[in-house]
Amino acid sequence: MSETENSTTTNFIRQIVEQDLKAGKNDGHVHTRFPPEPNGYLHIGHAKSIVLNFGIAKDYKGQCNLRFDDTNPHKENIEFVDSIQQDVRWLGYDWQDRLFYASNYFQQLHDFAVELIQAGKAYVCDLDGEQMRAYRGTLKEPGQESPYRSRSVEENLDLFERMKAGEFADGERVLRAKIDMGSPNMNLRDPTLYRIRHGVIHHQTGEAWCIYPMYDYTHPVSDALEGITHSLCTLEFEDHRPLYDWVLDNISIPCHPQQIEFSRLNLEYTVLSKRKLTQLVDEGFVEGWDDPRMPTVAGMRRRGYSAASIREFCLRIGITKSDGLVEMGMLENCIREDLDAHAPRRMAVMHPLKVVIENYPQGQSESLTAPNHPKDEAMGKRQIDFCREIYIDQADFREQANKKYKRLVTGGEVRLRNAYVIKCEEVMKNNQGEIVELRCSYDPETLGKNPQGRKVRGVVHWVSAQHGVKGGVRLYDRLFNQANADKVEEGGRFTDNLNPDSLRTLTDCYFEPALAEAGEGEQYQFEREGYFILDSREAAREELVFNRIITLRDSWVKIDKAGG
Ligand code: ATP
Ligand code: MG
Repeated sequence: MSETENSTTTNFIRQIVEQDLKAGKNDGHVHTRFPPEPNGYLHIGHAKSIVLNFGIAKDYKGQCNLRFDDTNPHKENIEFVDSIQQDVRWLGYDWQDRLFYASNYFQQLHDFAVELIQAGKAYVCDLDGEQMRAYRGTLKEPGQESPYRSRSVEENLDLFERMKAGEFADGERVLRAKIDMGSPNMNLRDPTLYRIRHGVIHHQTGEAWCIYPMYDYTHPVSDALEGITHSLCTLEFEDHRPLYDWVLDNISIPCHPQQIEFSRLNLEYTVLSKRKLTQLVDEGFVEGWDDPRMPTVAGMRRRGYSAASIREFCLRIGITKSDGLVEMGMLENCIREDLDAHAPRRMAVMHPLKVVIENYPQGQSESLTAPNHPKDEAMGKRQIDFCREIYIDQADFREQANKKYKRLVTGGEVRLRNAYVIKCEEVMKNNQGEIVELRCSYDPETLGKNPQGRKVRGVVHWVSAQHGVKGGVRLYDRLFNQANADKVEEGGRFTDNLNPDSLRTLTDCYFEPALAEAGEGEQYQFEREGYFILDSREAAREELVFNRIITLRDSWVKIDKAGG
């Protein structure tokens, strides 16, 4: 874990855990779990939950389980089961031998349901979906009791076993808890515990079951079976807590975890709903779940964000009970701080402009030494080749400009980073009047120093035309145009808010030779251009392609201000 991570960061949940430990509750032990449903890849919101659950376990010498909440076999699959494990591990956490599936508990869940039936606390109901809704009432009006509510225990036991045996069609019958149709809490109006699902092949249990337990029933039982002490979930489950407690109070299970809710992460300029992310993937708006523009852990990894910086972000945003939209700048600052400290510097020219240094001998070249990091000598040095023909960026030259322009102008001087001062003597243009080449001179006395009294406008980066390696870059921008990416006009779709320029590809870039050896996962700062990482796509293997992780500064602040 990085040094910036402050494990003493506290929040109201950690305070509850500390008090419980002090009071000797749960035998002075803390046990949490992270319970994803395997119906998509993990995103940064899940990371918040992972850092919270695994972080508490780690800091209070407890344990954290990874449990797949796999009771909804229609939308779940093994690709997601695998990717979730990979992502939790990559984030730096270890569930050791405690990988569980809610489906592991299907038999126990069934047996506890039988207990509820025997105690007269659950019944088989034949109302169809529409009738159920009508009987359920509204927030203002109490519900009505189902005509099947008074079935005898024997009849319920018989019907439930026949549901399990596959005698009935999907939707024909459900098992419901018998709680209170007049409760102001809708979740307590005889919620469904089991429904029938034929014809699905569950990724863990195959075709063994055709009845599937509902989330609100499965979750407390799974928590209790695993000996969870603190069951942390997001705020939308606050109203479900009485049901969570009801289930555990009415079955013969000694353990009763405490459910505690915290607010979900919402992040500007992106969406964190798996349904919407699935739509972006399925409808081809992005290249896949690991597209570097996606807020998924896999996307961020491919984008070049480090696990440490994502953990740091999750700690900085904190854990509260109030919903809000977190600024993208919060995440980007964590990414930049981490990269600034750890990324070696390199030079790359995105929009090349040829510069011929006329007083540098033809056929000659020299190897110059440049530090890998301006503030960290331990990161060492590298060799860069200098010769008569080099490239600078088109944006670093103007024929004329006022004093504020700190780059090269006709007749002016500029320092080449890690090399000499050059002066622009002549501008070469093509028939269309476009600048195609600069003729310059260099001053051999200026390597690594400015001779006295010499004023140079600025420093620009460059790459040797002879030694540089050609390749491409993929420049990523925000996925959505508006901070509140979900917000749509009437009749619109959230995909209308997608930023059409979220990916720009440049193909004729030049990289300094050291970059030809860039390894997978190595992050670099391309001087003055941003932070980059080798693209890990299969298709990018043939040529040198770098992904831009992030710009050097937040250029959006300016745009937002100017654009209003
Ligand atoms: P979605 O609504 O996108 O499908 P979910 O909550 O259903 O998300 P799960 O796979 O059930 O997704 O989530 C696993 C865990 O991660 C849950 O405990 C959930 O509360 C937590 N989680 C999911 N999204 C967020 C988020 N945006 N912020 C914080 N925690 C989250
Ligand atoms: Mg869910």
